[in-house]
Amino acid sequence: MTRRAPAAFHYSTANHRNNMSAHTDPLRQNERAFFGNREVPAADKAGMVGEVFRSVASRYDLMNDLMSFGAHRLWKRFAASQSALRRGDCALDVAGGSGDMARRLARQVGADGMVALADINAAMLEVGRDKMIDAGLCGNIAYARCDAEKLCFADGAFDCVSIAFGLRNVTRMEDALASMRRVLRPGGRLLLLEFSKPLLPLLEKIYDRYSLSVIPALGGAVAGDEAAYRYLVESIRKHPDQEAMKEMMLRVGFDEVRVHNLSGGIVALHIGWAY
Ligand code: SAM
Repeated sequence: MTRRAPAAFHYSTANHRNNMSAHTDPLRQNERAFFGNREVPAADKAGMVGEVFRSVASRYDLMNDLMSFGAHRLWKRFAASQSALRRGDCALDVAGGSGDMARRLARQVGADGMVALADINAAMLEVGRDKMIDAGLCGNIAYARCDAEKLCFADGAFDCVSIAFGLRNVTRMEDALASMRRVLRPGGRLLLLEFSKPLLPLLEKIYDRYSLSVIPALGGAVAGDEAAYRYLVESIRKHPDQEAMKEMMLRVGFDEVRVHNLSGGIVALHIGWAY
């Protein structure tokens, strides 16, 4: 039986908390944000992040495999296994890019369900859509170009929302988390997969050295954009650790937040419920 699928994709404007951009909202004009290690006007960050992903979109998947030695597939598989989705459910993958999570969720909800793949970047969405078609998944996927901070879906539309390696790129993480909470039905869950803080000091040291020296060089050689991958490494180091992320989720109204450390805490899956 198809449940809620049509309503899930009703565009919502009434619930956007603030449709003013940082350029026009006087309260936000002096706001700053980190773009990697650099502090920039908050209003500029989305454009700068957009440029990074436009530049690397065609090589994004290959780089993920090379940088993580394929481990990103296991992290995503584990995250998807925690969705509790059933056939006929509705799920949303935010900052979904090339669609790795959306593809897994689409298989769980089946032909009667629906998955929305949302991303702010047209180039990444295009890669995601092509991969979905190649995987034979067409009927139960919808695509939306939208900002995680102001999701264009109705309140309570989804049984599960995921965001994998996307949150650290967003300018206002709390706004994005609140937006994801808004579109979850009561009892729905958020799966937040993101780089985090390695649990062992020795692992942190090795990982630091590897990520700072190898990843930008690899990005230069394979994706032709060393600066983009330097930003990605810097953004990982600036991202809140497990505890700070859990507190942020609780602050915006998620309940019973659980943390799963993966690969020794290099990555963490936070699961929060919307009651
Ligand atoms: N989720 C995919 C994965 O795990 O492979 C892609 C992750 S990629 C590192 C980050 C994605 O976040 C990019 O596709 C980028 O376009 C998207 N993104 C960045 N800022 C965003 C925003 N404010 N709203 C929605 N998507 C955003």
